[in-house]
Amino acid sequence: MTRPFNFSAGPATLPEEVLQQAAAEMLDWHGSGMGVMEMSHRGKEFISIAEQAEADLREILSIPASYKVLFMQGGAIAQNAILPMNLSRGKRADYIITGSWSQKSAKEARKYCEVHVAASNEGDHHTTLPDYDSWKISDNAAYVHVCSNETIHGVEMHELPDLSTLGTQAPLVIDCSSHIVSRPIDWSRVGVAYAGAQKNIGPAGLTLVIIREDLIGHALAITPSAFDYRIVADNASMYNTPPTYPWYLAGLVFQWIKRQREGDLTGLAAIEARNATKAQLFYDYVDQSGYYINKVATNCRSRMNIPFFLPDDQLNEAFLAGAKAQGLLQLKGHKSVGGMRASLYNAMPVAGVEALLAYMKDFAATHG
Ligand SMILES: *Cc1c(COP(=O)(O)O)cnc(C)c1O
Repeated sequence: MTRPFNFSAGPATLPEEVLQQAAAEMLDWHGSGMGVMEMSHRGKEFISIAEQAEADLREILSIPASYKVLFMQGGAIAQNAILPMNLSRGKRADYIITGSWSQKSAKEARKYCEVHVAASNEGDHHTTLPDYDSWKISDNAAYVHVCSNETIHGVEMHELPDLSTLGTQAPLVIDCSSHIVSRPIDWSRVGVAYAGAQKNIGPAGLTLVIIREDLIGHALAITPSAFDYRIVADNASMYNTPPTYPWYLAGLVFQWIKRQREGDLTGLAAIEARNATKAQLFYDYVDQSGYYINKVATNCRSRMNIPFFLPDDQLNEAFLAGAKAQGLLQLKGHKSVGGMRASLYNAMPVAGVEALLAYMKDFAATHG
């Protein structure tokens, strides 16, 4: 039986191999007599799962030894508060607005520190990426926050800014929830990367924070202990009980990534090449269709999340119903943008994109 293709923006599709492995290990993990959900997080079984997952993530993303990987809870939205609590040190923080998620981050940060919007694409309805040269970074900013892939608006930074060329020592903070492990990260440009797991990594409930060590240890006095990066790091992410099952599943996904092959490429390089292929297939078709529309500027179109529109919103329901009948699920756009959205995360095979495009061609031919 083949499963339908699931284009949800998140929680999102996972590799079938991973789900099957998790199912096979559900009642008895590696002869331990326990399922992973039933294990103490301090026992040797779970410690080995946790350490392997971190080691694999470090390998996949080439994370330098001078960065800590924290396995937290609360999602990226909780980080919108946790981050300024830990990094602002009474200073002002700069935010770049490129869509709904960065806007939400800036709004939350205002509860904990002064916020300066250093650049915004709001005038372009979040369809462009402000030129890095145009960013008005504050003197002495505590950090500069960006959302490197705007899941709702479909705007992606294909290259991260090098803040040192903009005359600041401030660390760059990236919310990379919806494109983490889809491509490499240039750590020389990043102080903190955070991501909720449920887009490209595993089930909801786990949040990854990858942070340069010197940025740890400056939390405001009001910071809850469970959200103080120093305390989380010193306790190997086990100050409170971590989300053990999502952590385990993330580990299975990391091993799946390491096994991927695409021509001569392996691991993340293979994943990245496949993601580039999938996105290009999709945008090329939409642009030449004369029917579907994507409004994002070509230099910042997301490989992961592609909002698109039919020529008439009256057709949306018919499009979604027809798609579902073909085994193409969860294509409805975010309510703030409307239209459709196809999320092409790592676990979406090229065949899924081909099936969607075949359906879209048929639909355009019958309703054009
Ligand atoms: C999904 C998403 C969030 C919100 O994640 P939660 O797990 O709901 O907190 C924040 N930022 C980005 C970029 C996202 O894609």
